[in-house]
Amino acid sequence: MSDQARGLPPKVTVLSGGVGGARFLQGVLRHRERTGSTTEVTVVANTGDDIWVHGLKVCPDLDTVMYTLGDGIDTERGWGRKGETWHAKEELAAYGVEPTWFGLGDRDLATHLVRTQMLEAGYPLSAVTEALCRRWLAPLFGHALRLLPMSDDRIETHVVIDDPESGERRAVHFQEYWIRHQAAIPAHSVVPIGADRATPAPGVLEAITDADLVILPPSNPVVSVGTILAVPGVRDALAKTAAPVIGVSGIVGNDHVRGMARQLLGTIGVEVSAAGVAEHYGARNGEHGGVIDGWLVDTVDEPLVPRVEAAGIRCRAVPLMMTDHDATADMVVAALDLAGL
Ligand code: GDP
Ligand code: CA
Repeated sequence: MSDQARGLPPKVTVLSGGVGGARFLQGVLRHRERTGSTTEVTVVANTGDDIWVHGLKVCPDLDTVMYTLGDGIDTERGWGRKGETWHAKEELAAYGVEPTWFGLGDRDLATHLVRTQMLEAGYPLSAVTEALCRRWLAPLFGHALRLLPMSDDRIETHVVIDDPESGERRAVHFQEYWIRHQAAIPAHSVVPIGADRATPAPGVLEAITDADLVILPPSNPVVSVGTILAVPGVRDALAKTAAPVIGVSGIVGNDHVRGMARQLLGTIGVEVSAAGVAEHYGARNGEHGGVIDGWLVDTVDEPLVPRVEAAGIRCRAVPLMMTDHDATADMVVAALDLAGL
């Protein structure tokens, strides 16, 4: 069997953040298409980035996955809608309404209006997400692709910083740290507020325990995958599942490829390297109750392979740059290989 013909198993679950997770999923779907497979893909997305702004509930990672896979994304920015305009944002700024740093595009605004209305009518976020995906994903993928928020409960990641104006130490919403401060000020700690009291959304634990393969894409280990793992029950489901769990490093050559993982890994005491992140996730059968069986590192990190394997995690070095869907699909093939599928 040629590598490209290596099919996906019937049920694949991916724990995703925004841009990195969404791009990886494009590779999963490309591989599904090129092998003619009938695999059902379930995405469990981080909701710790969610924020209420101008009275609207915004879910950046859910929307990035939905727009990216639904062909509605602005590919250059990597987030928000293509063909976007910014009239509402300009009008809000003209009223002097804060926050001015959060970009809400006109097209995007419709998504948040629908979501907020449904939430206020009493629907849980998972049901709202399903309704939104009926527009974006169902026409393209039918039942083959499901997008689940990690939880229906409100969870908001905050980052403790020294306020650049007052010098005071305070916790700000993750979006304020990332968008307003561009992750350019030191972060002391990261707290997923509400996660400890949250329950996983319907279907999340089953998606992990009933999967044939679970993948941790190169999503941010602190504020994307880390937040999903902070929802009670998720780590247990990963420990219990009969499926192999394979992770893909988003750290290449001691830095993130994009985003702010480098700045945030230090807050949880993790070395900024593909091996550091693998050790942090830990071997599933290891004494510390880790979450992965296998780990892909980029070819530039090949020298780290023995260190990862010494931690009890199968490891392989392959090209990990998601330059196009086929290159990303080849990463998926490497994950299948490492999983022994
Ligand atoms: P966010 O929520 O939009 O920040 O996106 P994610 O958390 O899903 O993914 C961000 C992570 O993806 C970052 O830490 C990046 O280093 C990683 N990433 C982005 N592009 C690539 C790529 O082409 N290859 C690899 N290996 N990682 C990538
Ligand atoms: Ca995110």
